[in-house]
Amino acid sequence: MTIALREQFPFYAARAACHYLDNAATSQIHSQALAAMVGQESHRANVHRSPYRLAEAATQAYGDARAKVARFLNAASCAEVVFTSGATASLNLVAYSFGETLKAGDEVVLSAAEHHSNFVPWLRLKERAGICLRILPVLPNGRIDTARLQDLVTERCRLIAITHCSNVTGAVTDVAAVVAAARAVGAKVLLDGAQQVQHGPVDVAALGADFYAFSSHKCFGPTGVGVLWGKKAMLALLPPFLSGGGMVGSVSLETATFAAPPARFEAGTPPVGQAIGLGAAVDWMMTLPWAEIHRYESMLLARLLAGLAVFPAVRLIGPADLHARLPIVSFEVAGIHPHDVCQVLGEREVALRGGHHCAQPLLAALGSEGATRASLALYNDQADVDAFLNGLEHALKVLS
Ligand code: PLP
Repeated sequence: MTIALREQFPFYAARAACHYLDNAATSQIHSQALAAMVGQESHRANVHRSPYRLAEAATQAYGDARAKVARFLNAASCAEVVFTSGATASLNLVAYSFGETLKAGDEVVLSAAEHHSNFVPWLRLKERAGICLRILPVLPNGRIDTARLQDLVTERCRLIAITHCSNVTGAVTDVAAVVAAARAVGAKVLLDGAQQVQHGPVDVAALGADFYAFSSHKCFGPTGVGVLWGKKAMLALLPPFLSGGGMVGSVSLETATFAAPPARFEAGTPPVGQAIGLGAAVDWMMTLPWAEIHRYESMLLARLLAGLAVFPAVRLIGPADLHARLPIVSFEVAGIHPHDVCQVLGEREVALRGGHHCAQPLLAALGSEGATRASLALYNDQADVDAFLNGLEHALKVLS
């Protein structure tokens, strides 16, 4: 990489020795995002409420953050960007609000590769509303079997809700095939972009979906905020999810009317400081040379996959090729619990995650009870990958 990135992350000033490879769980915050958030929180006022200058400045900064996110997503307008508390809240918002427009017998298509955040809300909707869930299976390499769209997406399908990239396998979904299948029957598409956004700006117009959900903390912004993007016409049709201040037109003792989106979906005081931090993070991301970063991340991924392939006891959970794949690598070690692997590597300052990764249906489909995961971001380097591989060799010796 020709640009020096680590010095832009306060984390590395404090923990230079850490090989942080848990970026799929949360990425480190960029200094610009932190500064913007601290700046806001130390001079704060509520938004949309009061006419004094400080409050007007807060409202302006909150609106500016929305505009930055809209640019990052190539959204048609700021009104398409709803701030939530994170991807989980965004996905639940669609399951509840879009869910209210569904009736018994309507079908929602998911995949077996979904994070629980895009699975459990739909299971609960099935119980509440009697909708049917149809599940796209995964292939043995963990990729979603989009060839099955043909028989699983029927005239009764109202929505395909699917991950843009798996948090376990790193496989990127063939979104074009999903959108084409949905359009053929007049269904809508919700993409869970939680993992994708860390690896560059997303073009929602080009993707052609109706909804896109992500979290700030996975794309170098603060925790506590996320986004639901929705096509303007779609959001306009949806009833509110949470109710309270800020989302109404007028309220009487008998009834209430609701504001237009995005305010309709932002009940209560929003995460103002965090949204402003996220705005700064995506602004920074838009200045980066993404083609170069993708080449760099692929080089690190290839090194990591080649290193893993050397261990006979290791089984990769996910595609072994680099095509349509992000640098998220999960694997099992025969006879060794993933938490033990993580602990031994943790003692060497290699930060990994182990367990079911909130994707139990996927692990079950791939015959796994738990996996260890290394996930890379743009600030990782070869030394991180090598520390991981050397640490794994050591772990296999001490744990076998
Ligand atoms: N979807 C995917 C694919 C994820 O990986 C995650 C988190 O790991 C989520 C949704 C939920 O994100 P959050 O916990 O930030 O709401």
